[in-house]
Amino acid sequence: MTEETRDTEKFDNFGEWFDKVLLVAQIADDRYPVKGFTVYMGWGYSIVKRIYQMLEGELEDADHQPMQFPVVIPEDAFQKEEDHIEGFAAEVFWITHAGENELDRRLLLRPTSETAIYPMFKLWVRSHADLPLRMHQTCNVYRYETKATRPLFRGREFLWNEAHTAHVDYEDAECQVRIGVDVYKKVYDALGLSYIIVKRPDFDKFAGAVYTLAFDTWNPDGRVNQIGTVHNLGENFAEVFDLTYEDEEGNQALASTTCYGMGMGRVLAAILAHHGDDNGLVLPPVVAPKQVVIVPIPFKDRAQGVAAYAKDIEATLKVAGIRVQLDDDNRLRPGEKYYKWEMFGVPVRIELGPREVDGRTVTLVRRDTKEKCKAHLDSLREEVVGLLDDIQKNIKERSKKRLEDALSDANSLDELRSLIEQRKIVRVNWCGDQECAFLIKDEVAGDVRGTLWGEEEEPSGLCINCGDEAKYVVYVARSF
Ligand SMILES: [Zn+2]
Repeated sequence: MTEETRDTEKFDNFGEWFDKVLLVAQIADDRYPVKGFTVYMGWGYSIVKRIYQMLEGELEDADHQPMQFPVVIPEDAFQKEEDHIEGFAAEVFWITHAGENELDRRLLLRPTSETAIYPMFKLWVRSHADLPLRMHQTCNVYRYETKATRPLFRGREFLWNEAHTAHVDYEDAECQVRIGVDVYKKVYDALGLSYIIVKRPDFDKFAGAVYTLAFDTWNPDGRVNQIGTVHNLGENFAEVFDLTYEDEEGNQALASTTCYGMGMGRVLAAILAHHGDDNGLVLPPVVAPKQVVIVPIPFKDRAQGVAAYAKDIEATLKVAGIRVQLDDDNRLRPGEKYYKWEMFGVPVRIELGPREVDGRTVTLVRRDTKEKCKAHLDSLREEVVGLLDDIQKNIKERSKKRLEDALSDANSLDELRSLIEQRKIVRVNWCGDQECAFLIKDEVAGDVRGTLWGEEEEPSGLCINCGDEAKYVVYVARSF
């Protein structure tokens, strides 16, 4: 039986499945009375916090300093980079008044922070000795999205982490791009997410960038989910913000900059969508708010002994640094608790009743495969740690397999259309002409996402649309 036939709810009615797990597993509530603004609930935000911690740790290991810039940007700074304004102007929230009084200088809520950060970089960078300068911040950004909003996938306020760096030249910025990509890879790999890294076509790059790299990942409904981007901005922003430094010869030179961002909503959505099944979430142990849940099975006159043993088990695991929940709420029956914690995606369930008390054992049930095994109290810690490790590996492998299954090739528009309908991510030959990309989109309702990054792929035929010589192999898929 394949995953897809088993998890029909997730694969055939993804929207409903997703809305249900968001609410029932207390991930997010979209009923906040401002459209496009979502409340992250306890279980969901606990996962997000752990992702932030992993990402911040990796960034700081790679010499990025944590900073926190103001949420407001003055209009004149924002208006400096032309392409940037063009890309974001329609989505900006303006602050125009304080009480009844109109502000002399309009402010905007950051849609991203380049124009907040570079004026300060200009003050801090004097000489080549001040470079490279690398910072990151965890914050919320605001964009008045005009496309349909969807909790976690597309909102008007989103949680993210952005990094910004400045360098002596383009070459050094290029190195930084690779460092940024590596940092993101580490985080996604640890979360068991599979992805492709593509260089976006010019018409789809970040406003003001030389080029944009994006991490695209699969979604059960066939629409790829962009979970992170890395941009080389070259000298574009440095020029308009006059970000210069004195080089070794004493001459003034322009810096080069990069930036990269990871949106928490999209990453969280990918975790739920990749690993979850028809019974609810399956969380990677590394970010699960609780890694183990203990469900005691009280039995008539043995209830006290069972309860005491459950507490022993809880203490043993806590000492070992495992995040454990003892569910001794007697208002629910054991079967109801199993159902509940499966929905929440807790990686391992421990069941124990009188038989386990007598044998000094427990029954372990893993969430990803639902397989059961026994463990003795003496080796419990090792067994649980081993099991968590196994689950982490298994869900990563499943996600990777699913991505491999989704990747296909097409040689004609008909073939492409049919594969897109089958929710595939499809490789096609493309001449590089923007018009052709737009026509492909009109024809098959799939976006040209870009060329694979870090690996040359040679076109094997003519452009799938116009029949001219192809310059690139590009990936086409539906997207959010
Ligand atoms: Zn063409």
